[in-house]
Amino acid sequence: MADNEDTPTALGPNTQLIRAGYNPFDFHGFINPPAVHASTVLFPDAETMEKHGQKYTYATRGTPTTDALCNAINELEGAAGTILVPSGLAAVTLAFLAYLSPGDHALIVDSVYGNVRHFGDTMLTRFGVEVEYYDPSIGGAIEGLFRPNTKLVHLESPGSNTFEMQDIPAIVAVAHRHEAVVTMDNTWATPLYFRPLDFGVDVSIQGSTKYPAGHADILMGTISANAKYWKRLKHANGALGICGTADDAYQVLRGLRTMGVRLERHQANALAIAEWLETRHDVARVLHPALPSFPGHDIWKRDFKGASGVFSFVLSVERREDFKVKAQAFLNGLSLFGLGYSWGGFPSLALQVDLDDRRILKAPEEGPVLRLQIGLEDVADLKADLERGLAAARAA
Ligand SMILES: *Cc1c(COP(=O)(O)O)cnc(C)c1O
Repeated sequence: MADNEDTPTALGPNTQLIRAGYNPFDFHGFINPPAVHASTVLFPDAETMEKHGQKYTYATRGTPTTDALCNAINELEGAAGTILVPSGLAAVTLAFLAYLSPGDHALIVDSVYGNVRHFGDTMLTRFGVEVEYYDPSIGGAIEGLFRPNTKLVHLESPGSNTFEMQDIPAIVAVAHRHEAVVTMDNTWATPLYFRPLDFGVDVSIQGSTKYPAGHADILMGTISANAKYWKRLKHANGALGICGTADDAYQVLRGLRTMGVRLERHQANALAIAEWLETRHDVARVLHPALPSFPGHDIWKRDFKGASGVFSFVLSVERREDFKVKAQAFLNGLSLFGLGYSWGGFPSLALQVDLDDRRILKAPEEGPVLRLQIGLEDVADLKADLERGLAAARAA
């Protein structure tokens, strides 16, 4: 946990990434912060101990290593404070636990990350919260879903797997009129390509497992709040004892330093491949917000500074009963793309998207939805691999 100290925001995003969160001269000039492995922190005397009269008191409440990362995220998000948790999923669930109570009503976007829906439908419901899903394209008409007990609106834009864009300022305006907290899962864009708090969102959530860590080897999440909602978040963090570790915080901060250049390459590679897929007859549609053909493109262009490397496409398959066999033939035909969950690391990944749990949105009719995480390989090699997959799907 770290409170924001006054930080300059005039620097460019890549310069900011290089410097954010830690001053080398706070630790003998070493460029990276020490990885402080700790539980106990000693106090010099009983009086200091009684008053908790020093900066660090126990490692669940922060260490110099976790503070360096929290300070860096605060700068990038423009937040009053940030907490670290052990995964991106935990970042969303902890935010819900921080702001919701029995009897409250929560509005969650229907294109939400699937494991968050599972939490909403099981534990959150069991704890007496009424969970309702809304159409990502609802905009200001979300007002019609508000009840006297609506306390939280959760956004994810673009949405998981199908990438629907949300009119964030319109939803925020309604939510704030009704005194509801607005939380947003911003894992796709990272604060480099979209800063939720600048658009009125109260709490910005990041799966640091993805682009900040960047190497498919770390699990972590961050939750960053504005001044109004920071205290409650910090309290939930302390009450639950859910915190990040020194080694993971060290690695995520290390990843952040290069996130700008990595994202630029993810963006360029993904867009080149999305545009190429769009020209193919065996592809029905490409779901990528930076393509002018995509329904949410205007919102993306209005609000976002860039696009990351994950998108989906709809394979063109005539008969529904062939969807699965064609999708699996495509995936089995790939050799450079790995088949695996998550994204944001250096290698390319592919999977078939499961949309069965959607309540409002319908799965495309034209064929199976395949999600691609475009990594840092050479585009020509990735295209050749996708050609092999598409040929295998045709042959199936
Ligand atoms: C992956 C993901 C998460 C969860 O991150 P983990 O660290 O894997 O738990 C949360 N939200 C979104 C949008 C994601 O894509």
